[in-house]
Amino acid sequence: MSTFQAPKGTYDLTPPRSATFLAVREAISAPLRDSGYGYIETPGFENVELFARGVGESTDIVTKEMYTLTTKGGDQLALRPEGTASVLRAALEANLHKAGNLPVKLWYSGSYYRYERPQAGRYRHFSQVGAEAIGTEDPVLDAELIILADQAYRSLGLRQFRILLNSLGDKECRPVYREALQTFLRDLDLDEETRRRIEINPLRVLDDKRADVQKQLTDAPKLRDYLCDACKAYHEEVRALITAAGVVFEDDEKLVRGLDYYTRTTFEFVHDGLGSQSAVGGGGRYDGLSEMIGGPELPSVGWALGVDRTVLALEAEGVELDLPATTSVYAVPLGEEARRVLFGVVTELRRAGIAADFAFGGRGLKGAMKSANRSGARYTLVAGERDLAEGVVQLKDMESGEQTAVPLTEAPAELAKRLG
Ligand code: AMP
Repeated sequence: MSTFQAPKGTYDLTPPRSATFLAVREAISAPLRDSGYGYIETPGFENVELFARGVGESTDIVTKEMYTLTTKGGDQLALRPEGTASVLRAALEANLHKAGNLPVKLWYSGSYYRYERPQAGRYRHFSQVGAEAIGTEDPVLDAELIILADQAYRSLGLRQFRILLNSLGDKECRPVYREALQTFLRDLDLDEETRRRIEINPLRVLDDKRADVQKQLTDAPKLRDYLCDACKAYHEEVRALITAAGVVFEDDEKLVRGLDYYTRTTFEFVHDGLGSQSAVGGGGRYDGLSEMIGGPELPSVGWALGVDRTVLALEAEGVELDLPATTSVYAVPLGEEARRVLFGVVTELRRAGIAADFAFGGRGLKGAMKSANRSGARYTLVAGERDLAEGVVQLKDMESGEQTAVPLTEAPAELAKRLG
């Protein structure tokens, strides 16, 4: 232990658990890569205004949770609390939408920062894989993204997750609903802060977790009853498309999500083994966001799945990922000369694309074989002075325990053959 520890609300990813994280990132992005989504990477920090305007001035993320800083040059920056605003900013800046190839489909993977109260599954530094389809209004696109997220979770072996689906309406019908909701909420018995929220972001009140608030919301006007015909038809089409793909979902009228930019389709993936931080991912359509950050009209849809919580969900379901061993061959030299010779063999194997590792530090046979076992290697190569004098190495099959002497010069080819 050093004098220092990871900052509050953060944790380090170390082997062997870190391998699961990599595998989860890989599994979530694989269906996207296979579906025409290109990789995008943006800076870890942005102009603070991008998030204030994009995510919304009244959201918890912007008012309470952003890590902001002023640079020595006087720029106001924020560590990114989410990915969508940055990705859209970058796509606009690179004019990706002008290439005449809409939608622009992008995926990303990275670290995000929110100054939240840390608890199990809620961290100040966390990891997401996300996808955005920019510039097209088409229910097939909304359905595609939901189906791909479902496919990603299933490919990992997760089963106890549910998909919650809702429509938040558009700029025609949402304002009408908003006003009806405000009128209803103003008559309730609520604290000062919630009263303020009624005026800036009334839909968020529906999301209030407190029982005494929820009790009063039973007769609140329902967004469903206010959706305009176009929004209703769009939503029905999305529902039909996911149903046709065999993806099971639940309609959830209370699903409003914590970011201001959503319109029409919104969805969340929740896992039943995670306690209060049950959302493993979420997303939706954000038709107005581009204009909110100074861009042209570009109706878009996207999602972000949390890598940390997906790993917790795997642990909660007791799913062990089938992670391939990272080392195929482990070399154990006995003596100075063997060290030079076997290191040469290891280098040759690596250059031939065979994952190989080495017993460093001149350790004895027993300790080195323990490391070989721990490495998960399928084969070990052992050589001592007598072997070298005979021009051979001992090749041991770690599964069968069988050991054969192989001519030194043929060892790489023999291993390549055995490993297929
Ligand atoms: P959001 O942008 O809030 O919809 O978050 C999308 C996903 O990111 C969530 O469903 C979580 O899986 C994950 N996530 C968001 N905030 C945190 C956090 N503070 N700690 C860990 N994961 C988070």
